[in-house]
Amino acid sequence: KGGQEDKEIPFAKPNSLTKVYAVASGKGGVGKSSVTVNLAAAMADLGHKVGVVDADIYGHSVPRMLGVSGHPTKVEDMIMPPTSHGIKVISVGMFTQGNQPVVWRGPMLHRALQQFLSDVFWGDLDILLMDLPPGTGDIAISVAQLLPSAEILVVTTPQQAAAEVAERAGAISGQTHQRVAGVIENMSYFVTPGTGERTHLFGEGGGQRVADGLTQSLGAQVPLLGQVPLDMRLRESSDEGQPLVLSEPSTDASQVLSGIAGDL
Ligand code: ADP
Repeated sequence: KGGQEDKEIPFAKPNSLTKVYAVASGKGGVGKSSVTVNLAAAMADLGHKVGVVDADIYGHSVPRMLGVSGHPTKVEDMIMPPTSHGIKVISVGMFTQGNQPVVWRGPMLHRALQQFLSDVFWGDLDILLMDLPPGTGDIAISVAQLLPSAEILVVTTPQQAAAEVAERAGAISGQTHQRVAGVIENMSYFVTPGTGERTHLFGEGGGQRVADGLTQSLGAQVPLLGQVPLDMRLRESSDEGQPLVLSEPSTDASQVLSGIAGDL
């Protein structure tokens, strides 16, 4: 055989023991990547074998947020992913030159995703998290085709406008027949240091609205999994490549994220 046919995707086999979660959002900048890396770190901290696919072609930031310094290496015909905090990571950013924007079109993205899933040596993973680009684009449909059993996690802010877009992103799973594992509301409130007063900078209720809307449109229970507060340390820790759940596990944001990781 010419060796040209596609390799199998191990996670797509019926007997695969790996849970796959695709993390989706409607808009960019709502904290989808921050949530992904902190969930991954919390899951690894619980002793799970975790991998992350950074498929956010426009905003691939997972390697920086996880402090990945290495590059993928090739061993025979497999790609060995770099590891950080015990998490195996592969990113579209690892296959571009410098900080060049990725201008791949749909079919190329599909190919890249397929290779990330089939040609990367993941080993026996308990959990694979996929950071999708924002919106209901080609990648979400590719994930559904390549890994029909992947479950969707929807990240939104409390804001009405963001929630509407997030609900659309989640609703695509109705067409692809994927399960939505739940909604995570990020940037839910800010706690004033000293007084402990909560300020809802971006409004309230967006996460619950998305969960309720999806529950109704999909005809299956979609829970609100948690509300992550705004915390400057979450951004700082991401910038430093040290997920907050590991560097400052006692913060409210870490507690919420670790709680969600434990429930999944
Ligand atoms: P997305 O992946 O949705 O584009 P990011 O995870 O890149 O969003 O987050 C956007 C920016 O907001 C980043 O600078 C990140 O550090 C910051 N951020 C995300 N969540 C929070 C939060 N709960 N508190 C403070 N900053 C946050």
